Amino acid sequence: MPQDLCRMTLKETQNFLASKNPSDFKSLLDSLTDRVGQVDSQVKAYLSLNPAPAAPKIENSNSEPLWGVPVSLKDNICTEGWETACSSRILKGYIPPYDATVVKKLKNKGAYLFGKCNMDEFAFGSSCESSAHHPTFNPWDIRRVPGGSSGGSAACVASDEAICSLGSDTGGSIRQPAALCGIVGMKPTYGRVSRFGLIAFGSSLDQVGPMTKTVEDNAILLQAIAGHDPLDSTSADVEVPDYTQFLSKNIKGLKIGMPKEYFIKGIDPEVNAALQEAAKVYKSLGAEIKEVSLPHSKYGIAVYYVVATAEASSNLARFDGVQYGYRAPAENLIQMYVETRDRGFGQEAKRRILLGTFVLSAGYYDAYYLRAQKVRTLIQQDFQNCFKEVDVILSPTSPTTAFTIGEKTEDPLSMYLSDIFTISANLAGVPALSIPCGFDSKGLPIGAQLMGNYFDEATLYRAAYAYEQTTHWYERKPKL
Ligand code: GLN
Repeated sequence: MPQDLCRMTLKETQNFLASKNPSDFKSLLDSLTDRVGQVDSQVKAYLSLNPAPAAPKIENSNSEPLWGVPVSLKDNICTEGWETACSSRILKGYIPPYDATVVKKLKNKGAYLFGKCNMDEFAFGSSCESSAHHPTFNPWDIRRVPGGSSGGSAACVASDEAICSLGSDTGGSIRQPAALCGIVGMKPTYGRVSRFGLIAFGSSLDQVGPMTKTVEDNAILLQAIAGHDPLDSTSADVEVPDYTQFLSKNIKGLKIGMPKEYFIKGIDPEVNAALQEAAKVYKSLGAEIKEVSLPHSKYGIAVYYVVATAEASSNLARFDGVQYGYRAPAENLIQMYVETRDRGFGQEAKRRILLGTFVLSAGYYDAYYLRAQKVRTLIQQDFQNCFKEVDVILSPTSPTTAFTIGEKTEDPLSMYLSDIFTISANLAGVPALSIPCGFDSKGLPIGAQLMGNYFDEATLYRAAYAYEQTTHWYERKPKL
């Protein structure tokens, strides 16, 4: 049934394509393309589909575990010969001459690149509304945002317009949209996945990670992209375990911490209730639940919006009309820079550049940037202390379910607060994942976040899998 193939998980897709028959690949591709044709005029997750659709070559049948598996990519992950523009006007027409390392790894394992997904411009945002193209809409209710900045990736997976997708996460951009769209999203440990070819936002925070229908799929996809890369000096030379080996329902004795600072006023009561329920499920599976403390997390948002904007302002300095993408017509060089940047960047990008330049400027550097870096160290120490007591930390991913389009665009601060629970993991560099943990009374998905110790993604998958296989929330699908 071609129309149902698009609904497969990555694991099912691997089985379906196991004999590497090009006609099976073709039926799957037709099913996905039909599905995009049916629903993407409402969801608007995609910017483009692969301009050269063809079954991947079979080079070596034993080393291509992802043969033919269609993977969608956020628009900030470089693909050779295929426009990669971070949903920004300033990079319009930029065709990378090389593949990001994650893309190269996928291709080497036989995967097929299906489409490029919409995002907040340069990954600045939590709603996918700052894209220069158009917003993306939440498949569960198209009057609502899918979250951001990897909103396109989350929405296409949730609506079965994709088998799986890669996003990027600087302050929550994989996990928050995963939560708002009811899918699984992992931000790996900083250094676990190469950033080579990921267009930089905040270089000390950015990670690429998998966005999938199930925990098992997520483990398979992380396995495919993780590992040391000589082209990224911040990638870590730490062995990548076979994550699927850790997927077991047995989590007896697992110690789970719930940070008291994360269950505060302002969090949606239905989100809170779902998390308390999740804790009960964990207890019933034999896990031990403890209250823990992350005392400096209250400074997380402030620290993040200093560090991330500082790094963004320097990373975005290279977009000047000379080397990449868009160039505004002008009479002289200075006017060309000014006009290109003025017309090329959207409002949120300009706000970040201004903020970042300010906190780095002489006279303010010590008061803002340096101080923020010191508090960042305290936040890291909080996590190190916590992981002496527990194996994983459980919290909400987002304080609310999906909000309506336009609700927060006029008030950037309220938008920034959407990341209150996700930012600390980036500041500390620890891995964190979001899994579906129920629905609110409007029928919108709720996400639970699990944070783990450095390079211990395996324990996160184990904890997530046990919960998923007990609750089966992932089986519910939007009615699109
Ligand atoms: N929403 C956060 C921001 O606007 C995080 C974005 C991200 O992780 N790329 O910066």
